[in-house]
Amino acid sequence: MAKIQAPVKMKDVLHVTFTDLTHEGKAVAKVDGYPLFVEGALPDETGEIEVTKLNKGYGFAKLVRLDKTVPERQEPPCRVYDECGGCQLQHMTYEGQLNMKYNQVRNVMNRIAKMPDVPVHPVLGMEDSWRYRNKAQVPVGLSGGSIVAGFYKKRSHEIIDMNECLIQHEQSDEIIQKVKDVCAANGVMPYDEKRHKGVIRHVMARIGYQTGEKMAVLITRTADLPNKEAIIKGIRDAVPGITSIVQNVNPDKTNVIFGNQTRTLYGEDVIYDTIGDVKFAISARSFYQVNPVQTEVLYGKALEYAELTGNEVVIDAYCGIGTISLFLAKKAKEVYGVEIVPQAIEDAKKNAELNGIKNAAFEAGKAEEVIPAWHKQGIRPDVIVVDPPRKGCDEALLQTILDMKPKRVVYVSCNPGTLARDLRTLEDGGYKTREVQPVDMFPQTVHVEAVAVLTLY
Ligand code: SAH
Repeated sequence: MAKIQAPVKMKDVLHVTFTDLTHEGKAVAKVDGYPLFVEGALPDETGEIEVTKLNKGYGFAKLVRLDKTVPERQEPPCRVYDECGGCQLQHMTYEGQLNMKYNQVRNVMNRIAKMPDVPVHPVLGMEDSWRYRNKAQVPVGLSGGSIVAGFYKKRSHEIIDMNECLIQHEQSDEIIQKVKDVCAANGVMPYDEKRHKGVIRHVMARIGYQTGEKMAVLITRTADLPNKEAIIKGIRDAVPGITSIVQNVNPDKTNVIFGNQTRTLYGEDVIYDTIGDVKFAISARSFYQVNPVQTEVLYGKALEYAELTGNEVVIDAYCGIGTISLFLAKKAKEVYGVEIVPQAIEDAKKNAELNGIKNAAFEAGKAEEVIPAWHKQGIRPDVIVVDPPRKGCDEALLQTILDMKPKRVVYVSCNPGTLARDLRTLEDGGYKTREVQPVDMFPQTVHVEAVAVLTLY
């Protein structure tokens, strides 16, 4: 079918009814079948928009005025919601957000997986959908002669100062503010991206939700940190109970936040946190789930779907620092985890040791290469858990699963589109998708996480 030519022109002001919400949180208004994407509106609302960009099959417009709103609309609580872009759904009630996320999963299960009969459960949301993140990292810069730390204004590299972020732990806000103040008081120049000058580039704060431990990471351009001792003392005084202050050096002209060199300035190299009864050591560079409360809900579902009795061999593909593997290990005979980032595998091994878990083994490499090798070595899993990145599972891995024929496959996904695609492949290969449970790991944002369970016929 030929792409529709735009029936509207740039700067046209139109009165429209919004029909849909995309997975990016933009409302859709169709003009003679031609979709325009609009930020800030919700389905069933009506109002005026101005066309801002035209492509062949679709365009963009900005909201001028709403004349009919829906009950799902709410005033965004954050003062910088419009400028920031970190959250996309604050103008929607939490209930509305959960419904939207449910619809998204239901739609891909119908359209992409072609499984309209497979049950999708209502999204498991949070009791308190704010202040849930345990990690904040913000750029530092100079604005109007003073040091600012906050976020990049949407589609730009201009840093907007920010005192609080409502999805971050309160103490992350505090750490960031204090580190900024202490740096300013001690003459530490913020990084100037254009000239590649200055010292402090980013600040990261990490909180152990269960343990209360706190880490501050100063990411600097130079290895030398002027007035280092005074800075350490200043941060310790300003943030009582801080357990770890770390410096990471990134001398490069790059958008990548971290450099290769990390040293501990004060306290421990890591902070600890727990998920269920498993303890994790988290270093400045470790990957760790950012919503610890919902992580437990998600992994709890994965565990339930795995139906472990203590006799099973389990493979955890895309295991990261072994969070799921260790969570399952206590209920399984053996767990094998595979992950592409070698440092994460080091962390996984250390975390197994930290918890006295002896029945979990980890290997660094590509899941689609390591798992077939395990198969050749005679490893016969009863359950395979996968938790791939947004692009979903590699074809070769899906084929390996079909060859290995585990009784159950538990698929944890951060992208419903690729989940649905991969479920279809497994279904065509002889598996049956039993149910899908979406879990809201990232309230106020458009991200949707879901876990599905498949069994052999
Ligand atoms: N299960 C973990 C992490 C999931 S995120 C947790 O819950 O914490 C997905 C992980 O897949 C990332 O750690 C990423 O590094 C890893 N990854 C990406 N491609 C991979 C591949 N081809 N093989 C193995 N791991 C891969």
